[in-house]
Amino acid sequence: MKKFYSIAIDGPAASGKSTAAKGVAKRLHFLYIDTGAMYRAFTYHMLENNLEPKSEEDAKTLLPSLSLKEDKEGHIYLNGKDVSSEVRSLEVTNNVSYACAHLSVREKLVALQQEMAKSENVVMDGRDIGTVVLPEADLKIYQIASVDARAKRRCDEFVSQGLKVTYEEIKQDLIRRDYIDSHREHSPLKPAADAIVLDTSFMSIEEEIEAIIKLFYKKVGDLWNNTEK
Ligand code: C5P
Repeated sequence: MKKFYSIAIDGPAASGKSTAAKGVAKRLHFLYIDTGAMYRAFTYHMLENNLEPKSEEDAKTLLPSLSLKEDKEGHIYLNGKDVSSEVRSLEVTNNVSYACAHLSVREKLVALQQEMAKSENVVMDGRDIGTVVLPEADLKIYQIASVDARAKRRCDEFVSQGLKVTYEEIKQDLIRRDYIDSHREHSPLKPAADAIVLDTSFMSIEEEIEAIIKLFYKKVGDLWNNTEK
């Protein structure tokens, strides 16, 4: 049976995971899967149905008919509809940490994520990829950066999109989300025991991508070179 490779990248909000993961996936010709976008899409789905993200009972009403797909261009489809821009709204960002904390929601989305990695080489980023979704991943990275470096990156990103936000608002939102993500009961944000911690506070995106690719080659070595691609 053909082996499919997987790279798991976890870490707190705005630590540069998705930019690095996208770059690594592009260089290695792997599929990039943004699991945060899946939790965001589910949260958007709850809000558009006037449901309460903190209520697991409400969340459960949407799970049986839920379909989430990501394509190679990085779009996310909720029940067939492209919701890539909707999932980035402030309302979704403010509520996603609540909707994604329910066990039933996590079980459903983890199953979808595991299914996606069965038949493709993948780079997957999130909070629980190395610990829960892909515990057998070939490489696990736990990416960190100081809260100031992360707030600055997110602030620059929003300003370049013409959005009005202050550095302090962003910093407080990151601190709030990290706290909820690391203290929740199910699949809290934490490094897997065998993850390599990468501090990107002073790294450029190209340096991050290069570092992860080097670690991947070092880890899989000849196995990868001899794989039919
Ligand atoms: O990565 P991003 O910031 O877009 O993720 C949005 C939210 O989804 C996170 O704040 C976290 O609460 C949740 N999440 C999660 N598990 C994942 C990915 C994201 O709980 N694997």
